[in-house]
Amino acid sequence: MTLRFEEADRVKNLPAYLFARIEKLIEEKREKGIDVISLGIGDPDMPTPDYIINELKKEADNSANHQYPSSVGMLSYRQAVADWYKNRFGVELDPKSEVVSLVGSKEGIGHISWCYLNPGDVVLVPDPGYPVYSGGAILAGAHPYYMPLKEENNFLPDLSAIPVDVAQKAKMMFINYPNNPTGATADEVFYKEIVAFAKQYNILVCHDAAYSEISFDGYKPISFMQVPGAKDVGIEFHSVSKTFNMTGWRIGWAVGHPDVVDALGRLKSNVDSGQFQAVQYAAIKGLTGPNDFIDKMCGVYQERRDILVDALNEMGWKLAKPKGTFYVWAPVPKGYSSESFAEAVLDKTGIVITPGTGYGAEGAGYFRIALTVPKDRMLDAVDRLKKSFGAVEF
Ligand SMILES: *Cc1c(COP(=O)(O)O)cnc(C)c1O
Repeated sequence: MTLRFEEADRVKNLPAYLFARIEKLIEEKREKGIDVISLGIGDPDMPTPDYIINELKKEADNSANHQYPSSVGMLSYRQAVADWYKNRFGVELDPKSEVVSLVGSKEGIGHISWCYLNPGDVVLVPDPGYPVYSGGAILAGAHPYYMPLKEENNFLPDLSAIPVDVAQKAKMMFINYPNNPTGATADEVFYKEIVAFAKQYNILVCHDAAYSEISFDGYKPISFMQVPGAKDVGIEFHSVSKTFNMTGWRIGWAVGHPDVVDALGRLKSNVDSGQFQAVQYAAIKGLTGPNDFIDKMCGVYQERRDILVDALNEMGWKLAKPKGTFYVWAPVPKGYSSESFAEAVLDKTGIVITPGTGYGAEGAGYFRIALTVPKDRMLDAVDRLKKSFGAVEF
């Protein structure tokens, strides 16, 4: 007899996987022999640079790297992260106490809630947002309070709209700029408001800077850590995933408040043993290497962005071009919901887009397109959209 096991509430309470229906439809299209173009997944299509891959190959041969690494990362890795912050943002970090390595930033984002949230605690989470913020909080038994990111506020949370009793109860807040899924960016004025708000209500701020290097038109995003007082109130998550096309390698970091960095490190030492040292060496190579690679890569995304946004605007959208991330966030035409538009696009054109509701209730009425396909595929995609939808209304 097969036993049945009752899942723990923390797993039962995880939100349903919203893309399951779309995945089934994709499967059906492919079975019919339709050439599906996926603009759904935010995963770089370009390869990791050779100089990084070669470093992995070299270090994989070194038997000293075959043993357990330190769970907080080699000091040379943490030093490389600190040096990168100094060069890129002018931010001083102590590699020993203010940097911890992560098995991808997602790992740290998922685990930070375990460090600071007890069951029933409140955490401020952007909506729409990367699902791991609420996922980690729910696994810790905490309650996300969703901060709507609205177009009229440039997709920044309106801190004055958070009820005082919620702010007083909240222990933590997640923010993320350049933002997935909206492509919005944040400036120093906003980050200063965040620091003041955090100090007023004693809230730990967790900024996710995964896209700080993916930017266009000469714009360079700043780090939350550049703002005075940021290190007193929080940490910043980052990784080489989007910067060097290394999503599969699973290596990232958190930097900032030393107590928080320490707590994450102690938690991690109980659940993982850090990342393979050869992978850490490869990441060091990226962080210390020539950065003309990043400029070239952003140029490629920018060209794809222009093809897509120009085509959508010719069809009737009125989109501004995002200054960061490789996403375009756009409203659905009149008569559609997020889901029905995504289904109609797949049905009529064989193109996969993501319904905005996959990122939270506030994503209703929007869809996300990822710029992670080659130019010829993007040209094909806009061609199909124009042929099937013509002019659209809102
Ligand atoms: C891709 C992404 C990350 C990066 O995750 P890794 O675990 O470092 O690969 C983090 N946050 C957001 C919002 C992302 O889109």
